[in-house]
Amino acid sequence: MFKCEKCGRQTRPLEKAHFVTVATQVHTFPRRRDANTFKRGGGVEHTDDRGGTGEQIVKELRLGSCCALGAPAAQKPKSS
Ligand SMILES: [Zn+2]
Repeated sequence: MFKCEKCGRQTRPLEKAHFVTVATQVHTFPRRRDANTFKRGGGVEHTDDRGGTGEQIVKELRLGSCCALGAPAAQKPKSS
């Protein structure tokens, strides 16, 4: 159970939370050397993470089903 962060109503037991992103920012991720490790041909290999630019979530609301259906840009519920 949790409180809906839009209307403040207490949700029912086992009700799924709907996370809705309300603010994002552009973030630049640095290049990381040997960041990815994997097995190939019996050996362990590493590759670099190229880094780059992407969006990062700054704020998201946890909504109950009371408000999630009418919320703009509603996303799939995440397990909580
Ligand atoms: Zn609500």
